[in-house]
Amino acid sequence: MIIVMQPLASDADINRVVEKITGLGLKVHLSEGRYRTIIGVIGDKKVINGFPVEALPGVEKVVPVTESYKLVSREFKHEGSVIDVGGVPVGGESLVVMAGPCAVESRDQLLEAARAVKDCGAQFLRGGAYKPRTSPYSFQGLEEKGLEMLAEAREKTGLKIVTEVVDTQSVPAVSAYADVLQVGARNMQNYQLLKAVGKAEKPVLLKRGMAATINEWLNAAEYIMNEGNYNVIMCERGIRTFEDYTRNTLDLSAVAAVKSISHLPVIVDPSHGTGVGKLVQPMARAAVAVGADGLMVEVHPNPAEALSDGKQSLTPANFAGLMREVAGIAALMGRRLA
Ligand code: PEP
Ligand code: MN
Repeated sequence: MIIVMQPLASDADINRVVEKITGLGLKVHLSEGRYRTIIGVIGDKKVINGFPVEALPGVEKVVPVTESYKLVSREFKHEGSVIDVGGVPVGGESLVVMAGPCAVESRDQLLEAARAVKDCGAQFLRGGAYKPRTSPYSFQGLEEKGLEMLAEAREKTGLKIVTEVVDTQSVPAVSAYADVLQVGARNMQNYQLLKAVGKAEKPVLLKRGMAATINEWLNAAEYIMNEGNYNVIMCERGIRTFEDYTRNTLDLSAVAAVKSISHLPVIVDPSHGTGVGKLVQPMARAAVAVGADGLMVEVHPNPAEALSDGKQSLTPANFAGLMREVAGIAALMGRRLA
């Protein structure tokens, strides 16, 4: 249930409601909007039955929430969330671009990719140091050495770093280097990991599981927020369908749906979403047109030599073309590159 406070409710009114609710053994989450505060109530609602919340001073109304997620919903927070990643906004009017290789392969490869994507206007460098691969014989990532290279690339370029965390044990190590913790598609329903990143101090980029419904994806975000980390960025990266020309089917309707249901920013990964290099640019255009708050794109200095996902990786020159086109669509949508 959600308690909507009146626009003129005082801090004392809000505190009184919070004390009453927590006194009943329930948990509260506060959403302080521009005009009013909304109090999300979590826990067994039976204990509140019969308690006249609406009679408390400053309370405008009580809204029952029937969905299994609450904190992610627009009922809880009407305005779209803008996640501040060290001064770079994700959400709001600006459009954010995260680009870089699938995996950190070497210092030279990473620095070359970082400089290229920075020159094209990206704000984030992506790159996996821990790679969850379909085959155990495929390149598994450079692990902590890869994290050090990412940190060096940040120092040299000023780009923010987004990189995947694959298990609970490595959350502290990845948090020490990354600006944003990525939870990959394969881990979207790893609830222990979701709780661990929910306790971390860093924003989280939550990829949609390849067989996850929108409801399951939103509930995964709820797990993170319920631990107190409200800085969640959703990322649509394609789902598994019968179509096998593409690696996945990029579900752009999910972007529009999640943006209507939730206040969280949503970005789109057309690289994993299609698995086909030539489809990345058209789908990036479409993603911006549908209202995505940003893009995640795989860029490799030499895709033919990439240790992972070369087929879907763009050359720096192709990425430059994508950025030019996307800037045009962004302007039409009233957005600008962050
Ligand atoms: C990635 O972004 O490197 C990745 C592995 O993507 P996904 O989890 O979407 O497959
Ligand atoms: Mn990849």
